[in-house]
Amino acid sequence: MRSPVELRGKPASRGIFAGPVTRIAGEAAARVYSGSAAGERAALDAAIADAIAELTVLSEKIGGEGADMLAFQIAMLEDEALKAPAYSAIESAVVADKAWSAALAVEIAGYEASEDEYFRARAADLRDLRDRVLKHLSGTAGPSGSGGMILAGEDVPPTLFLETDWSRGGAIALTSGSASSHVAMLARARGVPMVVGLGAFELNGHDEAIVDGEGGILILSPERATVEMWKVRAAGLAIEQAREREFLHRPAVTADGVKVEVLVNVAGVEELDHIDIETCDGIGLMRTEFLFRDGAPLPDEDEQFAAYKRFLEWAKGKPVTIRTLDIGGDKPIRGLTPDGETNPFLGLRGVRLMLARRDVFRTQLRALARAAPYGQLKVMLPMVTIPVELTEAGEEFVDAADALKDEGIACGMPPLGIMVEVPAVAIVPEMFASAAFFSIGSNDLTQYVTASSRDSSAVAALNDPGNPAVIRLITRVARFGRENGIPVSLCGDMAGDPAHIGSLLKAGLRSLSVSPAGLARVKAAIANLRVGS
Ligand code: PEP
Ligand code: MG
Repeated sequence: MRSPVELRGKPASRGIFAGPVTRIAGEAAARVYSGSAAGERAALDAAIADAIAELTVLSEKIGGEGADMLAFQIAMLEDEALKAPAYSAIESAVVADKAWSAALAVEIAGYEASEDEYFRARAADLRDLRDRVLKHLSGTAGPSGSGGMILAGEDVPPTLFLETDWSRGGAIALTSGSASSHVAMLARARGVPMVVGLGAFELNGHDEAIVDGEGGILILSPERATVEMWKVRAAGLAIEQAREREFLHRPAVTADGVKVEVLVNVAGVEELDHIDIETCDGIGLMRTEFLFRDGAPLPDEDEQFAAYKRFLEWAKGKPVTIRTLDIGGDKPIRGLTPDGETNPFLGLRGVRLMLARRDVFRTQLRALARAAPYGQLKVMLPMVTIPVELTEAGEEFVDAADALKDEGIACGMPPLGIMVEVPAVAIVPEMFASAAFFSIGSNDLTQYVTASSRDSSAVAALNDPGNPAVIRLITRVARFGRENGIPVSLCGDMAGDPAHIGSLLKAGLRSLSVSPAGLARVKAAIANLRVGS
């Protein structure tokens, strides 16, 4: 038995699991050259066909969001442009597995180099499909994922997650990984505890471990007493989660009877499969930038219209707030955002960029105006700083709707509101009295008020939304909204943190928008609070 080792990383999915730990399967064995380029090409084609067949069967078995993700992998495997460099290497007498790995390495590096965590996270899908084909090429493909154990390694291939029988329990502990990866999303949806960013570690004889997905902790070879202690904590957490789930289908009301609207933040249509509209008051923030992929063609008007319409139909008449593109900052898109900005968070971001790229803005506004008749759409501008931005964006929206009408295309003109995330707006909300609504973006408001980057662990202690300066601004905006009949919500991460909900209600807010995984917890926290009406 090895001595205990405790490692700390980032929480990615809540829950505690104690049990056996196993290394996520390593590389496939090297392939032996068949003797001809034709033989290698045929082997690669067969391996890709086998991988597609396997993914198709898996996709039919699981359905929903997992199937959407597998559809992405299948589409990549069918993409001739992806395979072309491998075929040309094979023509130069390179063995098929090396040719395939090299072709995928270029693609994966492109995704990994993205500054956006969302796009970096997609690299896991590419590694996953690369390895599936490699295992077929070397004849080592086989079943995996019996469940009941902790999967430890650099990253979990999404298909391994989907193949694993989580009904037997289990958890995930990753040396790197990302809390916004597909696997992390799936883990949260299935209640599989997960920790990412633990840094390099080897199992080297450690065969038992504990994962605490809330604290972001991995303990290798824990002592018996430690395991017992964590099992008690796990039981406590399971009771707490079951108690929270009881609140999911009820309206959110404080202990002293104050009703709070609780909406969800979403980024993609695939998330809708896992949210029951009856459990929330609508969508408080749809981050449209996630429909745009770095390096891929921009989605056209029809594609965007189809996505927005889908959100509205899903919401069954409840409000859906769709935010216009908030790219720039930590979400660059090549060809759209400027290169070489010294401080992208203070640069050409959000509505600033859209007013500089009217072609892109106009396409999105047309798609939004076309979607408006399908539900209760509200459109929101990010990173507004001065009133002229709201005026100009409003004029652009009216022009887009007028053009559609001239073309005989059905459309509507939804209310236009703004994010309150730049301190100038929160300090003088009076300047924006013409906005149809406000939604406070506490993530950015906090980073700008405390001058501490939202994505730097070195200044994480300063980047505190509970800072009295931030709370004072939130209170000011809530009061201005109340006194002037402008609805105010808050859609930053602090709305999902029970530690902050009391101050938000005290600040006068009665509308919060949170990540879908946090709905039950937020409603339970609200039910526990007294604010006075
Ligand atoms: C925010 O800034 O709080 C917000 C909700 O927007 P984003 O996190 O997308 O910047
Ligand atoms: Mg923001």
